[in-house]
Amino acid sequence: ATDTVEDAPESLKPRPPVVTIMGHVDHGKTSLLDALRGTDVVKGEAGGITQHIGAYQVTLKDKSKVTFLDTPGHEAFSEMRARGANVTDIVVLVVAADDGLMPQTIEAINHTKAAGVPMIVAINKVDKPEANPQRIRERLLEHEVVVEEMGGETQDVEVSATKKTGLDQLIEKIQLQAELLELRANPDRDAEGTVIEAKLDKGRGPVATVLVTRGTLKVGDVFVIGAESGKVRALVNDKGMQLKEAGPSMPVEILGITGVPAAGDPLQVVENEARAREVAAYRAGVIQAKRTTNAPA
Ligand code: GDP
Repeated sequence: ATDTVEDAPESLKPRPPVVTIMGHVDHGKTSLLDALRGTDVVKGEAGGITQHIGAYQVTLKDKSKVTFLDTPGHEAFSEMRARGANVTDIVVLVVAADDGLMPQTIEAINHTKAAGVPMIVAINKVDKPEANPQRIRERLLEHEVVVEEMGGETQDVEVSATKKTGLDQLIEKIQLQAELLELRANPDRDAEGTVIEAKLDKGRGPVATVLVTRGTLKVGDVFVIGAESGKVRALVNDKGMQLKEAGPSMPVEILGITGVPAAGDPLQVVENEARAREVAAYRAGVIQAKRTTNAPA
């Protein structure tokens, strides 16, 4: 319904990697996400309060940035992918060193391979006396995940999310992987993005967290988002601060939407409100038609 114009190679600029953490329940995904969030060098000076908006971005000592999707688990990942929204650049697979490869670990490996996304293995809980990281590396071989030490190409790192060890090495490996991927986007165009999560907020109305995939989203921009439309009234980041604009790989909450979109829905900035309503109505019609077609006779 909307034309997607390709960007000229010279318009492309490096963008931060988008990372998803996957692994078996209780292996430490949430703890690791919290620990990684703590590595943000601007969190103190910004003075904001941590908001859980489905994704966050950390700024590292060297000023580079990494975006983490903070809905742990592979359901969100495969659901987004099923909807054609491949927002993840790198998967960090968390495996508890005192446990081993569990059903959801193997599922995560399969999802990651199917998506063709590079994986970094974080062997977690190495602070525990019963931890056996080497056994994890060996077991990974059975699933064709061959870490460097075993002669393969998959990077691995020993971490403790609770003791906060190995985090710098993990970030270094993410950055190295990101460099290899040569992630780029054109920031100087109308924004496009993907909905990470959305809700109806009592005080604020419909709110969607969007990951900007290219262009720069600005307050006042008119957009289509799934089968909804709107005009950006405010942009709020994961520190609860209002922004004027958000560039590629930046997760941001958007206010000013006509309704609540679905995770995985695309966002596109369009030229005016008439056009936005037209595209949204067309999409709503398509969605309606699909529902009717799929309805049991
Ligand atoms: P999730 O289900 O994968 O999100 O796992 P959680 O982050 O909730 O962690 C599950 C449990 O393991 C919690 O009790 C954590 O405190 C604990 N845990 C997580 N990481 C570590 C670690 O590095 N070392 C130790 N000893 N415990 C950990």
